[in-house]
This record gives sequence, C-alpha cells and structure tokens, in this order.
Amino acid sequence: MRGAEALTNPGVPVAAIRTTCPYCGVGCGVLATPDGRGGAAIAGDPDHPANLGRLCSKGAALGETLGLGARVLHPLQRNAAGGYDRVGWDAALDAVAAGLRAIIERDGPDAVAFYLSGQLLTEDYYVANKLMKGFIGSPHVDTNSRLCMSSTVAGHRRVLGSDTVPGNYEDLDSADLIVLVGSNAAWCHPVLFRRMQQNRSQRGARIVVIDPRVTATADDADMVLAIKPGSDAVLFAGLLVHLAANGLTDATYLARHVSGYEAALENARQIAPSIARVAERTGLTPVAVSRFYELWGATPAVVTAWSQGVNQSAQGTDKVAAILHCHLATGRIGRPGGGPFSLTGQPNAMGGREVGGLANMLAAHMGYAPVEIDRVRRFWNAPNMAQTEGLKAVAMMDAVAERRIKALWVMATNPAVSLPRADAVRAALGRLDLFVVSENVLSNDTLSAKPHLVLPAAAWGEKDGTVTNSERRISRQRAFLPLPGEVKPDWWIICEVARRLGFGGAFGYAGPTEIYAEHAALSAFENDGSRDFDIGSHAGSTKQSYDALEPVQWPVRAGRPLGTARLFAQGGFFTGDGRARMTPLAVPGLAAGTSETFPLLLNTGRVRDHWHTMTRTGLSPRLSAHTAEPTVQLNPTDAARFGVTEGGFARIATRFGAVVLKVALDAGVQTGSLFAPIHWSAQTASHARIGAAVQPACDPFSGQPEMKATPAAIAPVAYAAQGFMLTRETFALPERSWWAKLAVEGGEGRLFATDATPADLMAAVRTAFGEDGLTEMVDLEGGVYRCAVVQDGRLVAALFVAPFGRAPLWDTVKQAFADDAAMPENRLALLAGRGPDGSADPGPTVCACFGVGLNAIRAAFAGGAATPEDIGRQLRAGTNCGSCLPELRRIGAQARETVAA
Ligand code: SF4
Repeated sequence: MRGAEALTNPGVPVAAIRTTCPYCGVGCGVLATPDGRGGAAIAGDPDHPANLGRLCSKGAALGETLGLGARVLHPLQRNAAGGYDRVGWDAALDAVAAGLRAIIERDGPDAVAFYLSGQLLTEDYYVANKLMKGFIGSPHVDTNSRLCMSSTVAGHRRVLGSDTVPGNYEDLDSADLIVLVGSNAAWCHPVLFRRMQQNRSQRGARIVVIDPRVTATADDADMVLAIKPGSDAVLFAGLLVHLAANGLTDATYLARHVSGYEAALENARQIAPSIARVAERTGLTPVAVSRFYELWGATPAVVTAWSQGVNQSAQGTDKVAAILHCHLATGRIGRPGGGPFSLTGQPNAMGGREVGGLANMLAAHMGYAPVEIDRVRRFWNAPNMAQTEGLKAVAMMDAVAERRIKALWVMATNPAVSLPRADAVRAALGRLDLFVVSENVLSNDTLSAKPHLVLPAAAWGEKDGTVTNSERRISRQRAFLPLPGEVKPDWWIICEVARRLGFGGAFGYAGPTEIYAEHAALSAFENDGSRDFDIGSHAGSTKQSYDALEPVQWPVRAGRPLGTARLFAQGGFFTGDGRARMTPLAVPGLAAGTSETFPLLLNTGRVRDHWHTMTRTGLSPRLSAHTAEPTVQLNPTDAARFGVTEGGFARIATRFGAVVLKVALDAGVQTGSLFAPIHWSAQTASHARIGAAVQPACDPFSGQPEMKATPAAIAPVAYAAQGFMLTRETFALPERSWWAKLAVEGGEGRLFATDATPADLMAAVRTAFGEDGLTEMVDLEGGVYRCAVVQDGRLVAALFVAPFGRAPLWDTVKQAFADDAAMPENRLALLAGRGPDGSADPGPTVCACFGVGLNAIRAAFAGGAATPEDIGRQLRAGTNCGSCLPELRRIGAQARETVAA
C-alpha cells in the first residue's frame, strides 16, 4: 500500500477508471477501482474490443504491483563518493540540461542519445523524439522495441510500403486456420490465445504452431511443426512455390495490387525448390511439410500470426517478408478472417513506431527522405533537424562503449539486463560523461551502472496518455492514482529539460491532451492519403474528448472518426504506385553456427507469469509463485550427453558471458538447443542475467538482435546443499551461494543452492536474528538445518537447508509465513514441513489466480478428474484467466501416462 502522502479521500468509494494493461501488446482494457488507500481493484473491461472483459494472470494481478516500497520517489544525483543525494527537481533538471548542452557544444549533437521504451506512453515518446530529432539535432533515438518487433517494421515497410498491420483481432475469431509462427501465444499473448482457442472449440478453426520449441501453445494445436532454428523463411518460401505450382495464387489480386511477384517466386524456387529440399532445410518430414502447405493453400480464411521467434532473428526481416509474400500471392490480406498478423510484444511498441521512436524513422511513420525531413521541420518549426537515420540499439551501445556517444538518457527500460552482451553494456554505461535514467523503481539493474541523475517517473496507474496495441488500436491509459512523492510524468520531465535548453516555445504543453493533438495534426500534415498513419480526426482533441476517447483503430482520418478495421483487401498500399512490393529474400542463415566449443544454440524467451525484468510482476507473490527460479530447459538426450540432470545446476557459457541456472528437462526443446528465460536480473538472482550471454549479431535490415540462437556450451555445476529462506527483510546468503529471490506473501523468499555448510547458515541466522524466538532442527552431520524465528508472536524468518538433491519443499512454510496467526503454536510441525493442520505441501503454484498447487491438481487427477474442466469444478484452477489451461492439460496427460504405466 502507498504511504500517507499518496492517499486520496480515504474511505471514499471511487468509480472504476477505464485504462489499459501495461504489459503485452494485446492491450487489454482494464477497469481499475481505487480503494482510497493507494491500491485498486482490477477487472477486465468488458467493453474493450481487445479483451472483451478478459485478463490473463499478469493483468489480473496488477493490483498487487501498486505498492511504493521499491519506487524512486525523488530526484537523485550522484555525489562524489558514488552515493546519491536527494535533490530538488530544479537542480536535477538544470543538471541534465547543463550536461547535455556542454556535451553538444563540445562534441556536437551526435554525441547525445535517448534510449526509450515500449512502456512509455505515446505522448512521452512524442516529445522525446521531437526534442532529440528536431531541436537537439541528433537522430540517435532508439528503444527497447528494437528488441521486440523492429524486424516486423522492416518487413512491413519493405513489402507493404508502410508499417501497417492489415487486420485486427476479430480475424482471430473468424479465421478457419490460424498459423502461429515463433509465438508462444499461450503464455505471451494469453487473452488472444483464448480467443483462438474459442474459435477452435466453437467454429472448428484449426491451429498450426511453427516453432523450434514445443511450448504450451502447441498443446492445443492441430499441427505442430518443430522446425530447425532459423528456417522459417525457407518454409514460407516453399509455401509460395507450392501455391504457385498448384494454381492457388490470386492472379487478379497480383495483377492489380502487387509488383515483383515473378522475381520473388523465382527467388523462392531457388531457396525451396522442392518439398524434399524444404524438409531437409527445416528438419521436418516431407509429409509434414506437404500437409501444412495443403492446409494453408486450401483455407482462404487464414491468419498467419508471428512474434519474437520471427522477429528476434538474423533473418527476421526476410521471415516477415516471406510470410507477407504468401498472403499477397493469394490476396489473403485485409479480409475478415484472413491476413498476416504481427503480435507485438510490448504495450506501446506500436505507439513508439507511430511517433518515430525507432532510430530509422522520423515521426508519424515518416522516414528520412529529404521531403519528409523538410515536412517535419516545417511542422515542428524545428531549428536543428536530424538529417540521417540514427544508431539502432546494439550499435548505439557500441557507440557508447567507443565513446562516440557521451550522453545517454534511458527512459523506462533496463538495458543492463535486456540488451545482448549485457555485461559489456553495463560497463559501457558506466563510462558516459552524462548518464540520466528516468525510472519508476530502484530495482533496475541499469542503476548499478551509476547514472549521474535518476529522475522519478510516473508509473502505470499514475500516467495519463495513449497506447496502441497490435491491431493498431489506440486506447487511453488513464491515471487512477495520484503522483506519489515528487514523481512526474515523463512528458513533463522531457519538456522541462527542453525548456532549459532554450526550446520552451515548442514544448510548452499544458498536458498530454495538447501533445496528442499535435501528434495527430502531424500525422495528417500534408497527408493526402499517401501515408498510412493518419489520426487527423483527433487533431482537434480537447481535454474532454481526449478523456472520453474510446479505443479506435488508426487510420482515423479527418472526417472518419470510427477508424479503420482492415486495410489492403483492395490494394491501396503506401508505396507511391499503390502496389505491394514482393522482394527476393536473402535468407542468410543464422548469425553464427555451433562449434566444438559451443555445440548448442541458446534460445531465450518469456515465462508465463512474468514480464520483462520483473520490476513490476516481481512484486506480486501470485505471479512469482508459478516459475519461482530461472531454469535452463533442454532435451533429456542433451542432458545425458552433457552430464546435467533435472533439478541440478548448469553453467551456460557463450563467447559473451555466462550464467548458472537450474536444469529442467523438457522433451519439447529440440536436441541441440537450450532455452532460458529473459526475466531475471542481478536484483532477483545471483547468476541468471541471460542477456549477458546473448550475442549482439543483428538482422542486417532491421538491426534486431538474434536473441534466439546464440552458440553456447553447457556444463554441470555442483553445490553441496540447497534450501530456502523466508524473511520479512532482505537476508544476505553466504557468498558461495546461487539464489533466486521472489516476492512471497508477507516478505521475501529465496531459493538457494550453496557450498556453505549448515553450520555457516546457522551462524548467519543467529547473527542476524539472535536466539530469542529461534526454534531449530539441527543435524549438522546429516547436513540438515531448519529454523523458524518467531518474534512478537510473528514468524519473521525461516531457513531450511539440506544436502543437495534433497531440497526441502517450501509451499507449506510459505503459507505459514503469510499467515502470522497460525504459526507460534506450530513451530515443530512447521519445521517438519507440514501445515498447521498436518497437511502436506501443496506444491508449486499452477493456477496463479486461485493459488492452486501442483500436488492438489495431481491428487484431483489421481482421484478421477479427467479434464481441465473437472479440475476447474473441483479446485477452480483454470476458471478465471485460463493462462494455466495448457499446463492443466499436460498434468492430466502425465497422470494418465502414469496410470497406464
Ligand atoms: S494479455 Fe495479459 S498481459 Fe497482455 S494486455 Fe492482456 S492482461 Fe495484459
């Protein structure tokens, strides 16, 4: 809960505020009802077209993430000793402006850069882009969206002429075939995946999953194509050849609306001359390839949707283009139930694209053609227009390392964790002459690079503006909490710096309404219909109309306020001649292959209940319970080959860095591959910043790094003991420990493995907590130590450790830790690992919404439950957001296999 400074009319009921989820690109509508004590009740907005009332586990737990405990609440300035002093806003902003001015005067505008985020609102993004590209005169504005969907942007612009998603979410309801390429939608776009599942169950739509890794999404698929990493473009080139060879192309559409077809087809024939060759290059069987081609070819209402498996690739742009080619060749684009569909990762990656948040775009979907530079210059009345494309994220950090960029302002992102070669990035950031971070939370690894200034920025619930989701739908994010401490919105911070740099006249906005209206006006400025992004209908936005803005899909051209559901069914591409441009693919292959030293390919991605670097989801005990610690997943065959075992630990090393992760065997991971999650930082785990091991190689067109296929080695790591710790405050484990930290009800939990002895741990506990209220179970010879510390009738700490391989279960103790009243009389039961009522450990959480554990679900299946629906009736698991339904199916299947065996 928030401190007294944040209270608003305590006890007075407040109506629900309509806002938008801050996590993924689905862009679900949220109803937030402030409780008057700094928190809010969260529900899905039934009137929002993106989700129709649904939320996934992450969205449903937003209310658990509103506390102020980890927030940056005041401007901070680094002092000579390397610590931080609290300073006033004037001093902080003066220091930023003076630092920028000095570096610009000394080294020129190209020496300064902004690194932004798909978490920013469009209005924040707009003023940051305008300041840098129009007034400071540097093109170096890039964003973490570079890591997310820039290959889609490049593919869209190459083939469609503009960065336009042709269709919308309703197509997922009405498609007869949904092909998911490189997308674990069940975990990463859960609400959309529910819509796809509903289409399948109610209309009989078929779902095909194309992914090297068999994920939860594949559990519900009619066909699973586990292709070789990086071979997607070959598969779709072969599909184009198949469509042409079997008379399945739309000759009329091609003749009227597409150029380059013959050259693209000839190129596809060279890449994929036969089914056999496609099978060989993709690792699929010829039968599987043929079945997929026949299904795709025979189903006019087909949506091909893709996500990071396509984008985060050295051939990402070609992969996107190869998919677009198949839809163009069949005219299956912009029609109800049919079209290519990019599933955006972040909540406002699309909004960032709209304002020019990417280094290779200028503003309002305009690029760096001279006429566009001049148009934007005149609109902004800008004195120092950037004249060329700027540096993309990886190249930007190279420039920081080489001291070509000397001032960097990072907003709302965590590059010291998320960028490839993250250790080198962190070191480079520490060498900047001026390093500014605008941030919500202290638990951001990037702060460990010691920025000169930390500016407290508004968080979700406090911010006011717009975001655009994957289907081009602009929605309002509305504030429902007051700004705590001295926190300010990003747009305000940027405009205050602009004013101090002498540009106040162009940045004198009274609020986000005026910024949005200007952004809308720019989109329509000298736009005769030749530019896709046009929200001119909103150029006259007033506070009243802006506050009342309903979700709407752009273009929203002047006089057409209802927006545009689909584009391109009748051509009209934004290419000058109106024709889409099919273009030969390069298909260069993976950035780097395996070798004797690095014989595996490291794939990275998300887990179900966490988001990015966990600075928000990591605050929720519910969300933290599902995947409590970072694992490396690999095929049992590779595990045997490299001597690692389920539940053990392994070091994953690449040319760029190394991590140590717990091992989880998964037959769904191809032999030759490893999978590791992206979420853990130095704040939440001792050795799990996977970005440190990821290669910096990028797609040559988009600049998006290949984060799915870094050559890597794996080797076992041995620890003597393992256990867990629950504390109200942070407790430092001995140095020879691996740990993962997570939020639990009432405090902090750590799962650890260690070479420290039980005696070492016992001593550490006694030093930290004293012996008053300490109950212990000690078997030092047997390597066992368990303790509970009860103070003032309250369990304040528990530590269990045992020899490695005999990890004590912790869910029962976690429950006791959350339930103060139950424990004092039950300390011995607690140390025995049983609940106050003698109940056994419920096991790891599967259903985050209702806190249902694995053991309870297994027991229900063993007791006769046959389906996830049965489990829902008995335990409620899976009956809310549905994110755990694929896991329930897997557990049920395992239970049936056990019985059969
Ligand atoms: S699917 Fe989940 S994370 Fe994504 S926007 Fe909806 S509620 Fe948020």
